[in-house]
Amino acid sequence: SVIGNDHPSPCYNALKMSLEILLARSAGFCFGVKKAIEKAETLDGEVPIFGYLIHTPQEVERLRAKGKRNVHELSDVGSGRVVVTAHGLDIHKLDSLKDGQREVIDTTCPLVTRIYREGWKMQDKGARVVIIGDPDHVEVKGIASRMKDPIIVYHEEDLERVPTDRPIGIICQSTLLMEKWKKFTDLLTSRCRVIDAVDTICKPTKDRQSAAEELAQSVDVMLVVGGYNSSNTSKLREVCARYLGEARTHHIERPEEIVPDWFSDDMRVGVTAGASTPDYVIQAVIERVRALDPVSVVE
Ligand code: SF4
Repeated sequence: SVIGNDHPSPCYNALKMSLEILLARSAGFCFGVKKAIEKAETLDGEVPIFGYLIHTPQEVERLRAKGKRNVHELSDVGSGRVVVTAHGLDIHKLDSLKDGQREVIDTTCPLVTRIYREGWKMQDKGARVVIIGDPDHVEVKGIASRMKDPIIVYHEEDLERVPTDRPIGIICQSTLLMEKWKKFTDLLTSRCRVIDAVDTICKPTKDRQSAAEELAQSVDVMLVVGGYNSSNTSKLREVCARYLGEARTHHIERPEEIVPDWFSDDMRVGVTAGASTPDYVIQAVIERVRALDPVSVVE
């Protein structure tokens, strides 16, 4: 039975459960986001960040307190320095930032610039580039803006828009779900002239997805920690829900969102986190669950 169910407003500290907490073997900050934050932090004074460097609200607030606030319009950038985020920027916006004689501190991850290069190589071979990814995401906009007449596909019905009579090359967003890459490339290969397909999901994303998948199969409930608008955190939630269902997969941004009713005695609790979730947030989540009287934490 779920402890706390009999108590409409359960007192957090009054609950005593034996819980085992397991942290996914790969979770939290990737090297790309870590490097970008370190770079931004070393800049003295007020320097705007164009878009979101990361999606975890606590980290956004921490950087803002250090004078690194997020701006979303060119007109809000001012005339000094500006940081471009780890997932890159639309080339036209980047050019406008540079045209304004600003100093652009570009923290685009090398695993994102690799995607640009793969796309250009396909174009050199005469292929039209198909990008699998979220058309509203800054990274996908950045990739698309560097290609000649690219096609962005995100939903299965989008595949209908891909021409079948001319060569195409396929690349994808660095944080795409691995299953989606396979499914979409299989479908495209079966009906189009695919001359090249390069899986450009980055290794940290793959590691986090595989680790979450593995852990979700051996626990009773999963906590997925990260910003609600973080692309790779949502993918981790999707991976875990595949095994545990939506009811036992909880995507949270902050430890305070943990609800004691999610747990019952002798449960195994899995914890994973997106690539833009700092360690201190993951640890705070673990501590919050530990307060329910866990047996141990397995790293
Ligand atoms: Fe780079 Fe991958 Fe991290 Fe994005 S998720 S910043 S592509 S390492």
